[in-house]
Amino acid sequence: MINIGDIEKFSIVDWPSKISVVVFLQGCPWRCPFCYNQSLQDFKTQGNASWDNLLHLLEHRKGVIDAVVFSGGEPLMQQNLAQAMDIVKEMGFEVGLHTGGYDPQALEKVIFKVSWVGFDIKAPFDAAKYKTATGGFGDVEKIKQSIKILLQSGVHFECRTTCDPRILEINDIYQIADTLADFGVTEYYIQKYRPIPSDTTTQESDCDKFFKDEKLIAYLQSKFQIFETRK
Ligand code: SF4
Repeated sequence: MINIGDIEKFSIVDWPSKISVVVFLQGCPWRCPFCYNQSLQDFKTQGNASWDNLLHLLEHRKGVIDAVVFSGGEPLMQQNLAQAMDIVKEMGFEVGLHTGGYDPQALEKVIFKVSWVGFDIKAPFDAAKYKTATGGFGDVEKIKQSIKILLQSGVHFECRTTCDPRILEINDIYQIADTLADFGVTEYYIQKYRPIPSDTTTQESDCDKFFKDEKLIAYLQSKFQIFETRK
């Protein structure tokens, strides 16, 4: 059905306000320098959990869990994602999606099956900057198209950016915010980067600079109906 890298059996943070099971799907076309899920990147790796494992878990979690969040990796790369979502919905669970918007056509196929989307904005909408933040993907038009699909769908979604000081400057966050606000996005979060194990040089103060910049925070608060920091 789908290649599941791993399953988080209980989460209250992956879909804010919902208690969810999180399904980490195996395979991602991107190579973000701040990736904490590198074991999920390779498409050929057989994941640690099976579709049957997930169904079995969900059968026993009815009444306890509200939702299933399809995360990654990049869920939109899974050929049978729509079918998997249908089955989960038939079991009585709401469906959430984490994506970077890599494939707008794939997003279109599933958007009306989901009740919430967490959408990762990696960098300002500039090919070179997106390439740096994703390890090579610079087709920002696809990202814009995905955001338009979200807005037109009416499905509740948030945009969020991991503030990795190795690849983003304060000014980049201003640029991201301006573009999103111009699109009509109303909910935005900035997330603190926690150095991955191979990053031995980034200091806590480097990671904190986005969150201590009062001018930036005030600007973001003025741009969005909902803006929060996640540290
Ligand atoms: S999109 Fe997510 S899973 Fe893929 S490389 Fe980036 S952080 Fe890792």
